[in-house]
This record gives sequence, structure tokens and C-alpha cells, in this order.
Amino acid sequence: MSDTRSKDGGPMTAPAPSPTDPPLLSVRDLTVVRRDLPTARIVDSVGFELRRGEALGLAGESGCGKTTTALALLGLLPDGLVRTAGEMHLDSGRGPRPLHTLSPRGMRAVRWRRVSMVFQGAMNALDPVMRVGEQIGEAVRLHRPALDRTAVTARVRELFEQVRLDPLRIRSYPHEFSGGQRQRLMIALALACEPDLVIGDEPTTALDVITQRRILELLDELRRELDLSVLLITHDLSVLAETCDRIAVMYAGRVVETGTVDQVYGAPEHPYTQRLLASFPTVGGPRELPPPIPGSPPDPAAPEPGCAFAPRCDRAEDRCRASAPPAAGDPGGADRTVRCHLLPWPVTNPETSR
Ligand code: SF4
Repeated sequence: MSDTRSKDGGPMTAPAPSPTDPPLLSVRDLTVVRRDLPTARIVDSVGFELRRGEALGLAGESGCGKTTTALALLGLLPDGLVRTAGEMHLDSGRGPRPLHTLSPRGMRAVRWRRVSMVFQGAMNALDPVMRVGEQIGEAVRLHRPALDRTAVTARVRELFEQVRLDPLRIRSYPHEFSGGQRQRLMIALALACEPDLVIGDEPTTALDVITQRRILELLDELRRELDLSVLLITHDLSVLAETCDRIAVMYAGRVVETGTVDQVYGAPEHPYTQRLLASFPTVGGPRELPPPIPGSPPDPAAPEPGCAFAPRCDRAEDRCRASAPPAAGDPGGADRTVRCHLLPWPVTNPETSR
């Protein structure tokens, strides 16, 4: 059982991730297409790394490929989609292990045990006629089939404490919990097998603002206490600011900008990131809602040459419509990349930049 308490009884906090740490998760050139139309790239040459104990935010408008990226990682792509390229490695302490070559059975052994996911609106997925403690107990038994009933109950109580729910409520039914409490139960389920990585796909979208904040704080605390890595997927950039160390912004299936929270929020370089940030209201800003980004994302079924953002970009030049920009890395900033012709930075991966 994981010990999350320090010697003085307070929560134990893992050391902050360092840029020199080997990645827990490494994704390279991940490409997912429609099975019936292989030219329709839903995820297009996506790459990123995530270190142990780190929180990475995957941001962008809906339909940009964020959720598909996560489903590809878990081997849970819907029937209509297929991964055609890409390497994904997970290092759970015994060296990088390829996920992209695993059979469906091998992938099942990774899912929930090493990588788990909290889905959008998942709090409504609890079985309404089963006590919540039994539902979480089933997940614990999946991870540790040898545990007897008493030990499983003790682990369920521990999980309740970890997500700040009263362990006396393990015999309650889902309808006896509020929306925020049910999302805490889903986080407890995600933690049941002591994974290395938790993926949160819009985990707070259905919640009110205050509950949303509490869930994000909980995820942040758990990350530090349990040395978890978190991949947080959202269309709402404000959600990522306080929770994540680094951000990857996606547009039309591609990562167009990566950097630390300070870099992406403080000095966004890609015109799409700039427009996306400007489209969210700020506390000290005007009282009316900022205008949304004009136009709409391209249809992956009808790809155009050039930069996918060009039809909506007020800085587009002829070269933008002629060729897609490669990913370029800031020579002065580790892990800082931008995909835009305007950046004079060196290309980071010429052989895969199309
Ligand atoms: Fe805009 Fe051109 Fe940069 Fe694309 S490459 S974001 S069209 S300036």
C-alpha cells in the first residue's frame, strides 16, 4: 500500500521534476487517421515527453485531437480510427517499455495499472445500484487479486482519505454524493491500481467553478503526494495555469506550441496560442466576453497544403499557404517549440517535419 504520510504525519511531497530526469512517458510522431479515409489525419505527428511527478497540459479547441491522443496512448481508439505511425514509451522504473508494440492483452495490463484516465462527465458512469466502496474495491482486486476482504476494505478507506472523502461513506450509493464528490470517487478509482500516470480528460468540465477549482487542487496535491504524473486535457487554458508545469497547445491534430506555463502564458509565440489566450476573459480585463477566434478549424477530410491555421491567421504570408511549418525549438529554452514560419528558431526534427 502506498505510504503518503511523512514521519511527522503530514503529507509527503515528491521532489519537483527536473528537465534532466528521464521521461516517464515519451511520445514521438504519433499519427492517427480515419480508417475509411487515411488522408484524414486526426492526430498528426504528435510528440511530447512527460517526467515523473510532472503535470503536462494538452490544450486546444474541441476536435483538435487531444482526446484522440490520450485514447491512442491507452489503446482505446474507437473502431473508426487507427494509429498508423508513432512510438510511445513508458518507463515505470525498469527502463522505457514500448506501448506501441503491445498486443491488446499487453495493453490491458498497462491500462489502469500503469496509466489510468478520468473521463469527462465520468462521475455519471458509476453503477447506481452498487455501493461505491464495492465499485472501488473491484478495481483494487484487479490490481491485487491476493488481497483478502479486510485488506481490500482498508485500501478503499485509504483511497477515500486520499481524495478527501469521509471513509465512513464507503457503503453509500452514488446518488448520495454531489457531482464534485462523484468526480472524487472517479479519481479514487483511477488511483486504485497505483498508476504512474493519470490522464484527466476535461475532468472538471461538468462542474461549477468552485467545485472545479477544488478538484484541480486535489489533483495537484495528489500529484505531489504520490509522485504521480498528470496529463491534463482541456479546451480551457485557464484550468492549466495553476495546475500544470508545462503546456502543449494543439491545433488541427498537431502540437503547435510547447513550453512551461510561464513561457506559454507570458510570451506565447504561435498566433493560434495568442488568439486562444486572448479569447478567454481575465479578472482585470473588460467586463464583456472577448471575441472568439474567427473562422473554424479545418476539416481533416479535406486537408489543404500549408499551415492549417493560415485561413484564420491575420499574419499569414504566401509561404504559410505553400508549406506547413516545421517544429522549431527555442535555442535558449529547453522543451520550448513552436510550429510557425515566423519563428527564426532551428528546426527540431527535420526528418519528421512536413
Ligand atoms: Fe500564421 Fe503562417 Fe505562423 Fe501559420 S505559419 S501560424 S499562417 S504566421
